[in-house]
Amino acid sequence: MSQIEALYELYRRYPSVQTDTRKLKEGDLFFALKGPNFNANAFVPQALAAGAAACVIDEAEHAVEGKTFLVPDVLQALQDLAAQHRRQFRIPFLAITGSNGKTTTKELIHAVLSARYRTYTTEGNLNNHIGVPLTILKIRDDAEYAIIEMGANHQQEIASYCRYAQPTHGLITNCGKAHLEGFGGEEGVRKGKGELFDHLRAAGGSAFIMADYDYLHEMSRGIPEVITYGSSNADYTGTVAQADPFLSVAFEKGFEGTVRTQLVGSYNLPNVLAAVAVGRHFAVPEEAIRTALEGYAPSNSRSQLVEKGSNRIILDAYNANPSSMKLAVENFARASGSGKVLVLGAMAELGPESLHEHSSLAALIGQHPWTEVLLVGGDFQKIDHPFRRFATAGEAGEWLRQQGYRNTSFLVKGSRSTGMEKVLDYI
Ligand code: ATP
Ligand code: MG
Repeated sequence: MSQIEALYELYRRYPSVQTDTRKLKEGDLFFALKGPNFNANAFVPQALAAGAAACVIDEAEHAVEGKTFLVPDVLQALQDLAAQHRRQFRIPFLAITGSNGKTTTKELIHAVLSARYRTYTTEGNLNNHIGVPLTILKIRDDAEYAIIEMGANHQQEIASYCRYAQPTHGLITNCGKAHLEGFGGEEGVRKGKGELFDHLRAAGGSAFIMADYDYLHEMSRGIPEVITYGSSNADYTGTVAQADPFLSVAFEKGFEGTVRTQLVGSYNLPNVLAAVAVGRHFAVPEEAIRTALEGYAPSNSRSQLVEKGSNRIILDAYNANPSSMKLAVENFARASGSGKVLVLGAMAELGPESLHEHSSLAALIGQHPWTEVLLVGGDFQKIDHPFRRFATAGEAGEWLRQQGYRNTSFLVKGSRSTGMEKVLDYI
């Protein structure tokens, strides 16, 4: 028996995998990973005290007789184990990647497929080199569908996920201006995300693409089956019927009638179309799809609508990059109401393009009328702009509190690191 087969036997006995000693439960299989600032091999005693059934380690000096399983590299073992587990399933594995909207699309598709099938998916945003294998290892024998979110900020990352996740279906939401730094510009983003489609082309899979984006047609060429959704000229078509504050989508082809979502922002249109396309492709009845989509409400500061007194806040503080900022600002400019305040935090991970992208955003903001504009932190501090400047979200919040706004709408958005959700405490 190979080492990975032996580890697989251990996993089948203890299928609850944990990498964080603080979250360990009785009977978990603990993987002692190393990070830049920690080495979990040293936590074996804590893990065993917390009830771990066994610990997978890669430093022999931490071995405990009958309780540890020594491998050359714990992370590699986690990924190899995921590959081994994946091979047990003959079900559709749908991988989702892209610059923006992965989690929202994943959650919508999960809601739709779960209406009819036993569906397993990524929890929250666990979409990296640890999260993807952990997601696969959570899939149980009753699974009928698996949906896996794959995040990436550099080349070869998606290719590596595909080697062990072996998706049969793939969806790239879009290729925009996110993680420009690690990918090396927009061309680099397409190449990096395109690794999913390269896999489907080689393995003979199916792709779902947003027909409105020419580059996705280009990227999906050669894949045996390509299913399209979009505003026109696609297998499934729909357009924005209303987006104030919540998005309603009127379908024209592939689906009947209108879907009234609880999502804020017309930029969610492709995400809703994607969920309908996947649902119909896998034969979920139309009424079940409608009910699932209308029942889904986002959480975690992803385009949430929050009411505070007479004020209305679009809280989109989960993340930000030039593409999603542009859409969010334009969407907010179109919304009804006269009192509108923009509270935007800086965008992270843009590399040499950063100052230029912040200046472009400031120029875009200048094209619309606003009650007030507050720009917070990072490169907003370094560029020239006519708006109010703040170093932190807390300082911007404090200024807003002093104004005592009433009957006003706010768009609060910024990169995760700017912590823009703090502003909410002051409105
Ligand atoms: P992450 O890279 O952090 O995993 P993600 O790709 O999973 O992000 P979501 O969490 O679904 O994306 O959405 C984050 C934000 O991206 C939303 O709050 C919204 O501002 C924006 N967004 C969502 N969908 C789209 C879309 N289809 N096109 C452009 N922007 C979008
Ligand atoms: Mg995500």
